[in-house]
Amino acid sequence: MFDNSEPTKTSLSELGEFGLIDHLTKNFSPKHSSTIKAIGDDAAVLDFKDKQTLVSTDMLVEGVHFDLAYMPLKHLGYKSVMVNASDIYAMNGKATHITVSIAPSNRFPVEALEELYAGIQLAADLYNIDVIGGDTTSSTSGLFISISVFGEAEKDDVVYRSGAKPNDLLVVTGDLGAAYMGLQVLEREKQVFKANPNAQPDLDQYTYLIERQLKPEARKDIPPLLKELGVKPTSMIDVSDGLSSEVIHLCKNSKTGVNLFEEKVPLDPAVISVCEEFELDSTMIALSGGEDYELLFTIAQSDFDKIKGNPNLTIIGHMTEESAGMHLITRANQAIPLVARGWNSMSSEE
Ligand code: ADP
Ligand code: MG
Repeated sequence: MFDNSEPTKTSLSELGEFGLIDHLTKNFSPKHSSTIKAIGDDAAVLDFKDKQTLVSTDMLVEGVHFDLAYMPLKHLGYKSVMVNASDIYAMNGKATHITVSIAPSNRFPVEALEELYAGIQLAADLYNIDVIGGDTTSSTSGLFISISVFGEAEKDDVVYRSGAKPNDLLVVTGDLGAAYMGLQVLEREKQVFKANPNAQPDLDQYTYLIERQLKPEARKDIPPLLKELGVKPTSMIDVSDGLSSEVIHLCKNSKTGVNLFEEKVPLDPAVISVCEEFELDSTMIALSGGEDYELLFTIAQSDFDKIKGNPNLTIIGHMTEESAGMHLITRANQAIPLVARGWNSMSSEE
């Protein structure tokens, strides 16, 4: 798609490092009063006044986290901002700033990086985030993207993974498993295309799944929604590695057990039908799939009435004493131990 040997493309060496930085960052202008200095000095300067500062970072590596055979660079830019912002929302905060570091190999022309930055800028605009710096270097093979995100929250609003108590309700936003099944559909099409480059895929019925994989939306809306409802979660985490792995994180950090009810796990109809087609168990996909970027949190039972019936929120279980253990309660009402089979870029069996 972006072959540097094409004469119409501009090679990175033509611009040089500083020319490239200027070229990629010239359209960014700060939106937040907390941004004292953005791009252009040795360091950015931020002033969060009396708020607490939230910081998180994520790195994306070509061939490990993304495949440019089906991931357009603009989507990749967008998604890399989402992956980071999601971690700030998971602290019940507001994402406000990012730094973006890139290391492309010389196979990427300037136009490819323009696409990447178009996606980054779109996400930054829609999510009200300032791009305040980064670093630019080269790699000998593939593309590396590292984003750091900064955010703010009132001290009393910050929610950790560690505050859940026995009898708290376990709640998840949106629905689960779609991004993982979108990836399965894209992988299958890639194999079909390899075998027959003239094949015209009909992906209409998979639109939702593919969108969830290529253009996830982090839950910026949830911290303000919770505030409006008058609910402060007792613990919270974002669902990036699959529901079971995140539930286990909350339990371990909070020293509780859990009963998670299979029949309550929210699934989109598109996930149910594609799982039938692929002969996969949809509960297993929701538990282990990953990349949903939804939020998982616990609330006190006394807050039940405040969230009841909200279409964004599904109660999927409740916390128990640590000694009771972590269990999935199946549709047949059997309690089976919850195991983390979250997607893990380090594992060799996947
Ligand atoms: P230094 O030599 O101090 O590392 P650089 O020349 O790398 O500075 O960067 C100059 C300015 O451009 C800095 O403000 C830096 O944060 C910003 N910057 C560098 N690379 C990027 C990038 N890929 N995206 C956004 N900002 C960048
Ligand atoms: Mg630098």
